[in-house]
Amino acid sequence: MLAQWIWGARRSFIDVSFCGAVHVDSVHADIVVVGGGIIGSCVAFYLAKSGADVVVLDPEPGQGSSAGNAGMLVPSQSVPFASPATVAAWVAALASRDSTISFRRPVPLSLVPWFARMAIEARPGRARRATRNLFELAGKSLHLYQEMVDNEGIDLHLRPVGSLRVFRSVVALERQRRALDELAGCGAEFEMLGPRKLREIEPALRTGLAGAIKFPHDRSLDPARATRAIADAARARGAQFRAERVVGFQRAGGRVVMVRTDRGCLSADEFVVAAGAASAQVGKLLGARLPVRAGYGLSVTYPTGSPLLRSSVMLEEEHVVINSRESWVRLTTGMEFGGTAHDRPGAGAVRRLDAVTRAYVPTLPAHDTAQPPWRGARPMTPSGTPCIGRIAANVIAATGHGTLGMTLGPVTGHLVSSLVAG
Ligand SMILES: Cc1cc2nc3c(=O)[nH]c(=O)nc-3n(C[C@H](O)[C@H](O)[C@H](O)COP(=O)(O)OP(=O)(O)OC[C@H]3O[C@@H](n4cnc5c(N)ncnc54)[C@H](O)[C@@H]3O)c2cc1C
Repeated sequence: MLAQWIWGARRSFIDVSFCGAVHVDSVHADIVVVGGGIIGSCVAFYLAKSGADVVVLDPEPGQGSSAGNAGMLVPSQSVPFASPATVAAWVAALASRDSTISFRRPVPLSLVPWFARMAIEARPGRARRATRNLFELAGKSLHLYQEMVDNEGIDLHLRPVGSLRVFRSVVALERQRRALDELAGCGAEFEMLGPRKLREIEPALRTGLAGAIKFPHDRSLDPARATRAIADAARARGAQFRAERVVGFQRAGGRVVMVRTDRGCLSADEFVVAAGAASAQVGKLLGARLPVRAGYGLSVTYPTGSPLLRSSVMLEEEHVVINSRESWVRLTTGMEFGGTAHDRPGAGAVRRLDAVTRAYVPTLPAHDTAQPPWRGARPMTPSGTPCIGRIAANVIAATGHGTLGMTLGPVTGHLVSSLVAG
């Protein structure tokens, strides 16, 4: 059928056949952002602040991976997922269920080339370069978070308490200390704590632990609340959030000119893909291959009357992260490949998370007070570094933040805004 062209509200053409029977919404924006998680919200914030007319499309903004994660802002975790240690862990994962990484069986075949690429990216030279880049980006991002609070009045409730990597075995503690040379070379500061010092700092942890490594400059926040606050700040600067799912794009003259949603069409000058773990699917609609796969994790949140722990704590040998806030404490764990976004967290995994944590923190609130467990998809890339850059003449990717999306949100928004500004 021949396309029938009509004028849009401002300066664009709208192809009615592309929009189908849905109503032709003649809205034009300077920039359309697909995805309203922490990344899309930060992108919208910096673009709106620079004066751009921004529309964010997301059927459920803030309800993806940015909702129930651990909320740690951690330059100290800049060693990328693609590292020699991770390759060893995923090989072990194929044989055992008790590993950092797990696979929902049957393992999808499409993951094989992705993991092959990860093995290449995990070579020590590349992993070292990636660590330096991530550390620098994370440091800048923490600075931008602070600027959001100090200069823009955004209420982020940053908790400047540092983080502790806690160990029960002296051997594991020593091994980890040696592995930190690379981070130290990037400028990361940390302090070794023996068992007595650890008890002084964190009396809620059980006795008999080997010690901990303290990273004084890490921070934490409430991820859902912070994402909402940044989205609200973007709205206050003129960004529009529309509860619409992107289902297609239209190209003309080598550029993307329009996006189709489940409710209508929008034309724009620039498009940003910030759809988290769904970015590969959105990229496909654009004819672009984004190497993003979902790495699922789970969290359980318990109400508390006051912070259970003073710092954010990582139980290194158990792969558990504990974020203590004023009125809740959240445990997170897991990196599962395979399955779908609709799968529920496994009951066994939730029980194990509770039991393992309770063995370190005996005063953890009663199990039956916990909120329903949450499962979220980290947008993983084989290199362990995000994809931020142009993937077509007027399309920018801002995705693939993996285990560090909360940490890297502001710096990503800032970078995208600079890219748009040329
Ligand atoms: C258990 C767990 C713990 C974590 N802990 C930390 C931590 O402590 N610190 C840290 O820095 N990071 C952490 N992360 C990682 C972090 O949560 C993610 O990297 C980050 O939230 C990714 O943000 P995002 O905006 O890219 O994705 P999301 O928050 O998932 O947002 C993507 C959005 O895109 C939307 N979308 C998808 N498809 C479409 C479409 N077709 N049209 C329109 N919209 C669409 C979705 O509705 C969603 O709202 C953790 C993750 C998990 C799972």
